[in-house]
Order: sequence, then C-alpha cells, then structure tokens
Amino acid sequence: MKEEIQAHDDILDLIGNTPLVRLRKVTEGLEGNFYAKVEAFNPGHSSKDRIALHIIEEAERKGILKPGSIIVETTSGNTGFSIAMVSIIKGYECVLAVTSKSSKDKIDMLRAMGAKVYVCPANVSADDPRSYYSVAKRLHEETNGSVYINQYFNELNIDAHYQTTGPEIWKQTAGKITHLIACSGTGGTISGTARFLKEQNPNIRVIGVDAFGSVLKKFHETREFDSSEIYPYRIEGMGKNLIPTATDFDAIDEFVKVTDEEAAHTARQISKTEGLFVGYTSGAAFQAVKQLAEGGEFDANSNVVVIFPDHGSRYMSKIYSDDWMNEQGFFDNVNREEEKQIEF
Ligand code: PMP
Repeated sequence: MKEEIQAHDDILDLIGNTPLVRLRKVTEGLEGNFYAKVEAFNPGHSSKDRIALHIIEEAERKGILKPGSIIVETTSGNTGFSIAMVSIIKGYECVLAVTSKSSKDKIDMLRAMGAKVYVCPANVSADDPRSYYSVAKRLHEETNGSVYINQYFNELNIDAHYQTTGPEIWKQTAGKITHLIACSGTGGTISGTARFLKEQNPNIRVIGVDAFGSVLKKFHETREFDSSEIYPYRIEGMGKNLIPTATDFDAIDEFVKVTDEEAAHTARQISKTEGLFVGYTSGAAFQAVKQLAEGGEFDANSNVVVIFPDHGSRYMSKIYSDDWMNEQGFFDNVNREEEKQIEF
C-alpha cells in the first residue's frame, strides 16, 4: 500500500470538530451524565475560531474581500485572536480597536499574530469619535472592501454555530443529548447550537449562563432592558450591558446566573480534578450545572452537554494566580489548608 503524507493544508483545517469529553470527577454526587465540548481544541484555543472563519468565508463568497483587504473588530479577547489567525492564512490585514483597559499581554499576543492594534481611551462614551466602537466603524466605512465582524450584531455569528457546533454535538451524543448548558456573551454559541439541536428534538432543554451585573437573564424573563441590573463584574466574555442581536432569546429556555467567585473556584476545580485546563467561563458554565443539579434539573437519564469555551492559559494572571484570587477576596471563605491538601 502506498503511504501518503498525512498533513493538514493549513491551521484553518483544524477549526471545529472539537472533542466531547466525559466529566467524571467534578460531577461526583450529581445525578446524570455530563460531557464537556472542549473548544480549547480549536487551533486558536477558543470557540471564536468558528465565527472568525465563517464570517470571513461568507464575505469571500459574497466577493467583498480581496487579497490585502482589511478585517476590523473591537475586541482584545478570543475573537480578536481568532480573526488575526484566520487573516494571516487568508492574506488579509487584521485591525483591532481595543480599549486602554486591555492588558499588555493581550495586546502583545494580538500583535504577535500580526494584528494591527489601535488602543483607544476607555473612559469615553461609545459615541465619542475616540471610542473603540467609533474608530472601528470609521475604519470600516472609510476602507473599501473591508469587513466589520461586529460579533454582537452579526447574524452570521449564530449561523457559524448552527452549521458546526450544533451538528457536531448531535452526532457526538448520537441524538441522546437532553440538556445544553452554555455561557452567553454575544449569544452566538448558545443560539446557533440551540437552534440546530431543537430542530432535531424540541424537548432538549437549553440553559444560558449569565453573570451577576449583566442584563441578559432579566431581559429573557421580561423582554425589557433593565439598566439597574448592570454593575462591574470579573468574568470576561460572558454577560453583557446591552442586548446583542446575535442572541436568539427564543431558542433559550432559561438563564442561570453565577458569581465571579464560584465560577473561579469551579474552573480551578475542573483543572485539578479532570486535568482539563479551562478558562474562566468554563468554570461559570459548570457552576451553573451544579446549581441546576441542586434545583433538581437532572435525573439518571440526563445527558448534559456543557460548553467549555476556551483554555486556562489565558487566565494565568487571573483565576490561576493565588495573588489575584486573594485580592478579589475569593479565598476569604475557603479553607486554604484543605485546598492545599487537594493539590498533593
Ligand atoms: N466564554 C468566553 C471566554 C468568550 O470569549 C465568549 C465570547 N464572548 C463566551 C464565553 C461566550 O460566547 P458567545 O459570545 O458565543 O455567547
């Protein structure tokens, strides 16, 4: 038999088809079967690779992008990294307008991936011409053939997950999934995945995870924007102070809120017990699972899929730093001796 070279054409080939991994330890005492969709297996280490690739390829299909075109977005987070990665392979310029609140590490990481980063003042309103929203919008409007990803208000964000994450989970669970639990930021992940899954089986329960300090849960319940819900919180990438159109609130049955503190401890617990080094929102998602289990949501026949959006390495100076945890007061209610004993 002739042996062929087994190689991928490029890194974009590796986007999607992430593994579903059974959770065995962190689930002790919970009724049901629990599986994590581990999005850190994407080459850019997060679920955002899916939307970056999909939105850029849709623009190519529509003939908007030409070699050397620019792609604009307003994030220093996972989406920025994914867009930078896709842009390198496809030969576009990636321009990211971020706020001066973004950490130096994040900005360095984006520049390392070839992005041009504009650091804009954080203390100005969104409609100020210096704000990162205004800068991105202006760059897009003034540049022919540019694409503005605009993830919070782009229907293609939902579509990316409808076409990939949903079908993958349906196949991986052999259609036996009973519950989907996912954090909601732009809402693209949960909405697109839920739309696909509910078309296959409308009885699947879809539960979104929101942060205290965010308006999403209240909006889902009342369909009204309540600004009194808004206050600062620590978890990055989930919850919001506005209502994104990339969230299909009708596809979500319920929202659960989790605290910064419990989400941080749960992420650390997942890393230590499952050997899965996960990001902050993965902790939030599994914290929601624990709360739902306490409320009697699951039984022995439940097959629960929980989305773990990114990798722990992005949170070394946050939840994986004992100093940071201490500064937040997150160790105040924890017996450190007990925590230490678990470590060895
Ligand atoms: N977790 C992390 C770490 C994220 O960066 C995001 C994206 N903002 C989410 C969760 C939420 O995903 P989505 O935007 O698709 O709702």
